[in-house]
Amino acid sequence: MSVIRVALPVPLRQSFDYLLPAGSEVKVGCRVLVPFGKRELVGIVWQLQPADAYAEDTLKPIIEPLDSTPVLSERLCQLLSFAADYYHHPLGEVLISAIPALLREGKPLPSCQSLNYQLTQAGLAATEMDLQRAPKQLALWQQLQQGDVAADDIPAEQRPALRALLQKQLVAAIEVPFAPYPVITTASAGLKLTTDQALAVSAIVQAQGRFQPLLLEGVTGSGKTEVYLQSIAPLLAEGKQVLVLVPEIGLTPQTLARFADRFAVPVLSWHSGLTDTERLRCWQQAATGSAAIVIGTRSALFLRFANLGLIVVDEEHDASLKQQDGFRYHARDLAIKRAALERCPVVLGSATPSLESLHNALQGRFQLLTLSNRASGQQLPQLELINLQQQPVQFGLAESTIQQIKKTLQQGFQVMLFLNRRGFAPALSCDECGWVADCQRCDASMTWHKSDRQLNCHHCGSSRPVPRQCGHCGSTRLVPLGQGTEQLETQLQPMFPDVPVVRLDRDSTRRKGSLAEALQHITEGGPQLIVGTQMLAKGHHFPKVTLVVIVDVDGALFSSDFRAPEQLAQLITQVAGRAGRAQHAGKVLLQSRYPDHGILQDIIHNGYDSFARLALTERQQTLLPPYQFLALFRAESHQDDVPRQWLQQLVELAQTAAPAIQLLGPIRAPLERKAGKYRWQLHCYSASRAGLHQLLDQLIAASQGWPLSRKLRWQLDVDPVDL
Ligand code: ADP
Ligand code: ZN
Ligand code: ZN
Repeated sequence: MSVIRVALPVPLRQSFDYLLPAGSEVKVGCRVLVPFGKRELVGIVWQLQPADAYAEDTLKPIIEPLDSTPVLSERLCQLLSFAADYYHHPLGEVLISAIPALLREGKPLPSCQSLNYQLTQAGLAATEMDLQRAPKQLALWQQLQQGDVAADDIPAEQRPALRALLQKQLVAAIEVPFAPYPVITTASAGLKLTTDQALAVSAIVQAQGRFQPLLLEGVTGSGKTEVYLQSIAPLLAEGKQVLVLVPEIGLTPQTLARFADRFAVPVLSWHSGLTDTERLRCWQQAATGSAAIVIGTRSALFLRFANLGLIVVDEEHDASLKQQDGFRYHARDLAIKRAALERCPVVLGSATPSLESLHNALQGRFQLLTLSNRASGQQLPQLELINLQQQPVQFGLAESTIQQIKKTLQQGFQVMLFLNRRGFAPALSCDECGWVADCQRCDASMTWHKSDRQLNCHHCGSSRPVPRQCGHCGSTRLVPLGQGTEQLETQLQPMFPDVPVVRLDRDSTRRKGSLAEALQHITEGGPQLIVGTQMLAKGHHFPKVTLVVIVDVDGALFSSDFRAPEQLAQLITQVAGRAGRAQHAGKVLLQSRYPDHGILQDIIHNGYDSFARLALTERQQTLLPPYQFLALFRAESHQDDVPRQWLQQLVELAQTAAPAIQLLGPIRAPLERKAGKYRWQLHCYSASRAGLHQLLDQLIAASQGWPLSRKLRWQLDVDPVDL
């Protein structure tokens, strides 16, 4: 008998030992079913060791092994164990979150990829005469003469005919096993590369077969995707697999199409819209090598690959690569770790690289590849600041903005208006006494969604009908405070009655397929106004947009988050990058009440790359990341003072245990109360990563024994992107 240490999906920072009965065999990375209290849980074998007499007396045996070959490969186990340590998250939860839901439930792995139907010898020998009295069977028989048909492709109405043919033994079912994809032997044609692109491709190709991070800093429209495609091509001749991480796949269906159109190999997508069965199939296709390219959102990073040759992280600056709850990992950072374990190159691409990645490149840890011009030869759009204080403003648009919109539409082009607030208005207010409809559970106003006749809280999700009267003085004169995309849409329509207005935000694209429709309408349609939130900033290619209006940049200028300037510069550059991508030059109007603000001036005159390098110097002077490492404790409770007290205990412990580590807090979170809970934070800064992590381990271990720990919820966020 032996003892196995099993990682279980429970929020406890320990693993659990069980006895493995003689005769059963498991390996590290295999699933087992075990008793846990009154429940049965699926766990992952983490260690094997011989049993001693003591263990045999005290440990329970497992219920049954679920796999004979591991679902998690050795390299994945290494990656996940690194991640659990680095993010200080319970190992069991990390391991279990890396396998598809159906495997987590203990379902067996399907043994074949799909079922195909094929004519038997008798079926091949049959003639039309044999089936002429059964027209449906005849039709299916004729279809099968053209080649095998996958079970999934046979519609329900053909099933009876299929059954009949199977019974007559004219057709047989054959299992298609999972198998590595057939390699591509003929070179695929791509676009003729620009010099910058060609240099980038050759650097990536040269890095093949070893670990090498590369940062591809290419202005918007510089043809980064073409670089990825041509770097991938040689790998497909060797049967290697490629993982492409993208921020949000649903927003950019074009990306998937570009990969699938280029190569005659299986290109799969991995995202939250897949069913559990689709996920499992994709997971298995990656694991067996039958998928050549997987394009996926952050959790695709934990897919198992048979033969991974390259990882691409597109839009590496994007905050959605960071998981914001539970196991808070950064997919970009773990992608680099994974590439190191897989000994393959990893390409981080962006027009607006994160300061972290830029720092790594400037320090020589990443190889820097630059595309400084647009592939089309078109100039980057010209940025112009519009001073909202010096002009008449109508519906949030300055007079000169309106004039330029008119001119652009008259010339037959499209205009994009960016406003990062969905809904009709960010608040509903009383015109007589100034009362504002607040969320009862958060320290925030409720957003007015006029078309739904509702007030919604964008923080906790609660909603209520729009009140008829002021909650304070009873007046019925309730007015919108501020402007959201829904409002801008209704205001633009009468100003430009002949032009369609399309709105792109989470509300307008909720229905399945509606985003694709809207995108198609934009690409194929004539002059139109496109109003939207940051959904617009995500890598779209709209050839007819020549004017972009950023309606309000001021919100982000005075934030307490030290990353706010970086995020604003990225947003402006990305939104601006949608303008003038085809033959016609683009222009961007930035409306502001503070046009002299340093950040705006810098971006306008010098561009993102200059801004970013300057911002790095500032971070160095103020000792902020990436020059120091940051970890953030967040604590929340229904009782206001409990999180503060708990964090204060951490502070006291930290001050004695590691006086060199700089602490900030306890301070209130920017949103002080959310969903009824009071929220506090403690920031821990250190120049030594090892020193910081050692302290974090100590703090977590000590806090487990504190009575106060049971009265609140806390999380640790390592390298937070959102303070
Ligand atoms: P990015 O991802 O850098 O924003 P894309 O890869 O979307 O840029 O390319 C922008 C446009 O330029 C696309 O329409 C693409 O087909 C085109 N393009 C890219 N590379 C070339 C090239 N070498 N020659 C001509 N057109 C190109
Ligand atoms: Zn009132
Ligand atoms: Zn709320």
